[in-house]
Amino acid sequence: MAYQPQVVDAKIVSNNPKNGLFEIVVNLKDRTSCRLIYEKDAATGAPVATHVNRLLHEPCPICRKDFLCNCMSRFKDQLSSQALQMTGTP
Ligand SMILES: [Zn+2]
Repeated sequence: MAYQPQVVDAKIVSNNPKNGLFEIVVNLKDRTSCRLIYEKDAATGAPVATHVNRLLHEPCPICRKDFLCNCMSRFKDQLSSQALQMTGTP
């Protein structure tokens, strides 16, 4: 079955209006936490998620590793849109 991340909580943890970079930490329903790193599109100002890092509180829900893996990067767009729905764009 395909993994479906479900964001239950999202919080802006840093924001730099000068360069448009900001970060959101999200908590998922399966207890996974991730940090999303955004930049703003130079032309439109729209936020674009450039990186996603899983925080290491819980094993990865996809590969079950408890160290760094790249599984969550496949869900970057889904995580990003759910997070922005909750926090808005800073
Ligand atoms: Zn993984």
